[in-house]
Amino acid sequence: MTDKKFATQAVRAGINSDEHHKAVVAPLHLSSTYALNGFNDKGAFDYSRTGNPTRALFADALAQLEGGSVGIVTATGMAAAHVIVQTLTKDDLLVIPHDCYGGSYRLYTHLAAKGQFKLKVVDQTNDQAFAEAMALKPTLTLVETPSNPLLRLVDIKRIVEQAKAVGSLVAVDNTFLSPVLQQPLALGADIVFHSTTKFINGHSDMVGGAVITKDKALGETLAWWANCIGVTGSAFDSYLAMRGLKTLPLRIKQHQQNANAVAQYLADHPAVAHVYYPGLASHPDHELAKQQQKDFGSMMSFELVGGVDAVKKLFDGLSLFTLAQSLGGVESLISHPSTMTHAGMELDAQKAAGIGQNLVRLSVGIEDIDDILADLEQGLAASQS
Ligand SMILES: *Cc1c(COP(=O)(O)O)cnc(C)c1O
Repeated sequence: MTDKKFATQAVRAGINSDEHHKAVVAPLHLSSTYALNGFNDKGAFDYSRTGNPTRALFADALAQLEGGSVGIVTATGMAAAHVIVQTLTKDDLLVIPHDCYGGSYRLYTHLAAKGQFKLKVVDQTNDQAFAEAMALKPTLTLVETPSNPLLRLVDIKRIVEQAKAVGSLVAVDNTFLSPVLQQPLALGADIVFHSTTKFINGHSDMVGGAVITKDKALGETLAWWANCIGVTGSAFDSYLAMRGLKTLPLRIKQHQQNANAVAQYLADHPAVAHVYYPGLASHPDHELAKQQQKDFGSMMSFELVGGVDAVKKLFDGLSLFTLAQSLGGVESLISHPSTMTHAGMELDAQKAAGIGQNLVRLSVGIEDIDDILADLEQGLAASQS
């Protein structure tokens, strides 16, 4: 399948793989255990934590779409974030961005506090700070672009060059864009990981993650660890996510079209003070986004005119957008980073990170754009009443 175009690879994931019954769609294998061929003669699978046929097909499909050699499907995105640091030892240094996903920040700071590895948290858009971090010769450098919730970008190619120069591997959290819009391995990264809960599954009905490596040996080592610590994904969740994966390129097209329209609409609205969306020419990373990404994604945030009261009125005034965290599903979601996704951060730290009380985040879904804009119109009018 590697000779086929992206959308074809996504649709064909697992198709015609069933040798036994010739099922067109890959069957869901729930069995936890598999019989040996005979004494000391194992087949391809023996126990589902270690290997499962449904999960294996999903893992292979993801590896193909990211242009990697090994795919590992994990129980959650956080499990994927955990797997990638399993090879680090107490003297190894991990470098993470200061504005990475809150759960990743919590995981890495707590593991480092227990002495599992050394940690440096850095603003990767600050060239000097990043160069200083690289001078410490990290073992692994984590990148997350665009960032949450302000959609700031970092230049993956440049980070890779600087990291490679000091012998560091680079891992990229590609959850916000999916391989349809950004391909970190092609930009030189060694590891890509995902919360498949978001765009890859796309229907907000499972939780999962994945790790994809360029290098086969590294992938096999991380797969060994995923089995060892027991964080491999379930067969059922793999089945659901592989079903979602088939429409990923199609969904992203519609997400993209709607998001562009929403960003333009918000940018011109008097109740909106500022829009953070890399697709707008006013965004500081607009040019980088054009180079590094195939399009701008469907996540955005904006500052509302007024304070928390206006935010509450906005939420109360909406009927289509659902007030919920998470992202990347077919349905449009709205959230308040300060009290939801970033509630774990002190208010001062939020302020320093540019997360105000009037900041609102959108995951633009694939409903009809007329209904999306009408809902925002109604909510924004209510916010200023
Ligand atoms: C959601 C998310 C995660 C964590 O994934 P879970 O599936 O919730 O464990 C990691 N990184 C990013 C960017 C996310 O949005």
